[in-house]
Amino acid sequence: MQARATGLRGNPPPLMARPMKRNTGQNRSITSKWRDATRAVRGGTWRSEQGETSEAIFLTSGYCYDDAHTPAARFAGEEPGMTYSRTQNPSVQMLEERIALMEGAEACRAQASGMAAMSTALLCQLSVGDHMVVARAAFGPTRWVTDNLLPRFGIDCTAVDGRDLDAWKAAIQPNTKVFFFETPANPTMDIVDIRAVCDLAREHGIRSVVDNAFATSALQRPLDLGADVVAYSATKLMDGQGRVLAGAVCGSADFINGVLLPFQRNTGPTLSPFNAWVVLKGLETLDLRAVKQAENALVVGRYLEGRVSRLLHPGLPSHPQHELVKRQMKLSGSIFSFEIAGGRKAAYGLLDALELIDISNNIGDTKSLMTHPASTTHSSLTPEVRADMGVTESMLRISVGLEDPQDLIDDLDQAMKVVGL
Ligand SMILES: *Cc1c(COP(=O)(O)O)cnc(C)c1O
Repeated sequence: MQARATGLRGNPPPLMARPMKRNTGQNRSITSKWRDATRAVRGGTWRSEQGETSEAIFLTSGYCYDDAHTPAARFAGEEPGMTYSRTQNPSVQMLEERIALMEGAEACRAQASGMAAMSTALLCQLSVGDHMVVARAAFGPTRWVTDNLLPRFGIDCTAVDGRDLDAWKAAIQPNTKVFFFETPANPTMDIVDIRAVCDLAREHGIRSVVDNAFATSALQRPLDLGADVVAYSATKLMDGQGRVLAGAVCGSADFINGVLLPFQRNTGPTLSPFNAWVVLKGLETLDLRAVKQAENALVVGRYLEGRVSRLLHPGLPSHPQHELVKRQMKLSGSIFSFEIAGGRKAAYGLLDALELIDISNNIGDTKSLMTHPASTTHSSLTPEVRADMGVTESMLRISVGLEDPQDLIDDLDQAMKVVGL
């Protein structure tokens, strides 16, 4: 029977076996010459033989081989190639390479969430009998890990005021292996002097781990300031549109591949390829969003100054560490906190009166979000730990988005009038 040649016209072309040659996003000799904005858009991009413009989503758990020799060689580490998506996936690897380039890191491994990143970054390197020091103002679940989980495995943790270099120094013991802090810290907006604390760690052979979720590489680069490891919740500004949970850990190739990877491949806090793709798309606009949202947060902060009983905004001169912020950050970020008179009752009243800003404990979204940390993000901590951190009943935290800042001010203004402020 004669084949109808025209019958194939409307069919898709056959998948091509020839690899795409111009995979420049994965070539460090090329990407190392790119500037930051270019890396955020193109870093890590790997094109299949189809030459797709946008990064492909490789939604697969496993991989097939042409012959029995190939998987054996890959499992033995003798040939490169994918074996299983708990360990490698092309979409996830694109994200890892892009984040590594943006952060100035040799290597990066993506994680299923920010907390997967924090717990992996700690558990992969600490053992029974070790000690670590944590800045006391930290994300609630991070403090749960350092205060409750690690001690169960014989790992001691001392919490210090992260702003006080002498407190870090005094906490060092012969078995101290890790310094961990976030800056700006959630929700008190404490700032840690990255250079000073990381230099101190290095002098004592201690590895410094920095949670950079509030700033991201768009506003602050801890590795350039002496940090050893940077850990991320990519759920926040990196995705930036409130869609997926994701995390990442960056550092030297020795640490990421030699210490973290064996832990990760055997315990499995792996990021889904779909979520990796969403974050890849988010990173392409990270710089624009981070800068604009930080500018909006300054406008809203200036309005609140004087109208609230206490403002904790790192970008304003009233913040006690404003000079340090100017030294180590490009801009002060989109998140800040404040206190109003009247305790939890007034704080709830203000949240309930909002018409535009959403009540949400998430941050880093294009939509402005506000929360009462003591009853949400920091509710798993004891009242004593909250008091020690400075998380009060009258504290509210706002994450400023991309709306017109005047609309946010109008909303806060009408809500404050409702509670008599
Ligand atoms: C949200 C957050 C985390 C945890 O990230 P998830 O993606 O929610 O698991 C850790 N650290 C900081 C500073 C955060 O804001």
